[in-house]
Amino acid sequence: MSETKMAESNGLRLLFDEPFYQPVANEVGVFMAAWGRRLPVMLKGPTGCGKTRFLEHMAWRLKRPVVTVACHEDLTSSDLVGRFLIEGDETVWQDGPLTKAVRAGAICYLDEIVEARTDTTVVIHPLTDHRRSLPIEKLGVEITAHPDFMLVISYNPGYQTVLKDLKPSTKQRFVGMNFNYPPADVETRIVMKEAGIDEARARALVAAAGKARNLKEQGLQEVTSTRALIYAGALMVAGLDALEACTVAIINPQTDDPELAEALLEIFRTFF
Ligand code: ADP
Repeated sequence: MSETKMAESNGLRLLFDEPFYQPVANEVGVFMAAWGRRLPVMLKGPTGCGKTRFLEHMAWRLKRPVVTVACHEDLTSSDLVGRFLIEGDETVWQDGPLTKAVRAGAICYLDEIVEARTDTTVVIHPLTDHRRSLPIEKLGVEITAHPDFMLVISYNPGYQTVLKDLKPSTKQRFVGMNFNYPPADVETRIVMKEAGIDEARARALVAAAGKARNLKEQGLQEVTSTRALIYAGALMVAGLDALEACTVAIINPQTDDPELAEALLEIFRTFF
């Protein structure tokens, strides 16, 4: 798996080495066009299909720093915007990651935005239209975004429930880019490169995943991701037996149901 050289300062990451990204369609062109007009972008797709890697690749291309926030259900708007902290007998203001990105002209990546509370998604609204501004209520100011600021969110439609979905009014503020697991040839190349494994075993992993992904209808919440295939490949390269590698990297993390686990193992057995 690749490592990238980067500099990190004040939560802003600048990538020096090209993060390997294998395009599937015209995603680079679409993102460049959105960047040209500084339109906010929503990367939609299942876990482990390349959304984060794509974003890092684009940040490298554009030579812009990235600020990444992994959203979760306790994330408040103060976590994004900033808060007063007590230092000795003074209170000092500390910018949150979104404010830092807005000021510095970075790309702010809100990963799994659906997980965040609704009040959190509301603070991003004025940043997503012509105002390009961020109100900081606690300071009583509204700051205008740096011309190079860009907002990118990721969103996994598979997780959505009635309670947890982005409001249509939020979604419609973004350019939506659909991601999915890549076609077999492309995914094979990715697994070869990222896991450092030979073509035959990469092909077998991808073909097995193709079959395993059909089990979704039988109650699997998540299907086999490209990331899981890369882990399995990397463990094989490290010397693990192929089926053991598939079990620990793919099957165990995916299901707790013994019958489904057996059904998955059966699929991988036919390829290894
Ligand atoms: P997501 O953000 O969609 O959950 P990631 O971007 O973290 O997923 O992808 C998981 C891993 O899969 C990445 O670390 C990378 O190794 C690999 N990957 C997936 N798609 C691609 C691609 N198109 N090009 C290169 N690597 C990819």
